[in-house]
Amino acid sequence: MNAGVLREELEASGSIFQSTSDTEVIIHLIATSRERTLMGRIVEALSRVRGAYSLLFLTLDRMIAARDPMGFRPLVLGRLKRGRERGGYVVASETCALDLIEAEYVREVEPGEILTFGLDGMQSLKPFPPAPHAKCIFEYIYFSRPDSSLYGRNVYQVRKELGRQLARESWVAADLVTPVPDSGVPAAIGYAEESGLPLEFGLIRNHYVGRTFIEPQQSIRHFGVKIKLNAMREVLNGKRVVVVDDSIVRGTTSRKIIRMLRDAGAKEVHMRISSPPTIGPCYYGIDTPTRGELIASSSSVEEIRKFIEADSLAYLSREGMYIFLDGKTQGFCDACFSGNYPVHFDDEGHTHQLHLFEALQER
Ligand code: SF4
Repeated sequence: MNAGVLREELEASGSIFQSTSDTEVIIHLIATSRERTLMGRIVEALSRVRGAYSLLFLTLDRMIAARDPMGFRPLVLGRLKRGRERGGYVVASETCALDLIEAEYVREVEPGEILTFGLDGMQSLKPFPPAPHAKCIFEYIYFSRPDSSLYGRNVYQVRKELGRQLARESWVAADLVTPVPDSGVPAAIGYAEESGLPLEFGLIRNHYVGRTFIEPQQSIRHFGVKIKLNAMREVLNGKRVVVVDDSIVRGTTSRKIIRMLRDAGAKEVHMRISSPPTIGPCYYGIDTPTRGELIASSSSVEEIRKFIEADSLAYLSREGMYIFLDGKTQGFCDACFSGNYPVHFDDEGHTHQLHLFEALQER
């Protein structure tokens, strides 16, 4: 959150930045710290950072993992099960990475914890005052891989449960359910199971192209939808279709998809979203579009429905999003859906900091 201000301060006192990454701010804070030991320098540097970080440092003889006190982003600890390095510790942002190298999951790096690994084994340090947790709920909906386990729950199962809840909240008469692949697949399976409708793959994803989310220009992104997805007439022709996706960002992709479904013969298209409307950007480590680009920040559900040209549109409710947690919302961040940001830009100089933050993101 205060990367822009820290960068300004550091540059004013002579630090020379090599990149636009806000992580480099932390490196400069460590380099300019007056503490004597490396750990002292890292602790001092991190105590000046506000907001989200999950970090792994490598030194000549040590590995150091750190997670911010509110625990916005995941970070997990594992141990290798085989080979020469058997018993060695590994750290990753998602548990699916542990499966890849046949490491067993040990536990999460706790919010506010710093772990050091060296010849003398692993040590845990908790140098910061405890803070309320704010684990990112969007990890469950979109960011994490479905084969990962997050905060003790398998992501695929959670997404299916969100789909089931979506069907309970916004059932509609239809002939089939189809996901927007790949991220909408588990929720669509849940929706189909709960509604009793058949699940069909009416949209086929081309696996040889990258995600359109990260394409910066509108023109490239539009072309991206076409080469990414294709609708199947054999499945859709003459059908009333429920199409399930995890979220709507700008609305332009959803509109393309709905047009594609209709061109392939769909008689009705009902869009169902397995999260609440995304009304604000993320300031905690995810490079989301700005508020102005998010269609739900300024449009009602009905206005969005018209824009994307759907016969009906329904989002999951905020309460429904927490169904898999038995309704317990405590300990999670859902600011991009609710506007309740757990860490604010300082009131004083708010606009200046926000401007610096956004400038840094855009660079
Ligand atoms: S603002 Fe949204 S994406 Fe960012 S940490 Fe909170 S829930 Fe996650």
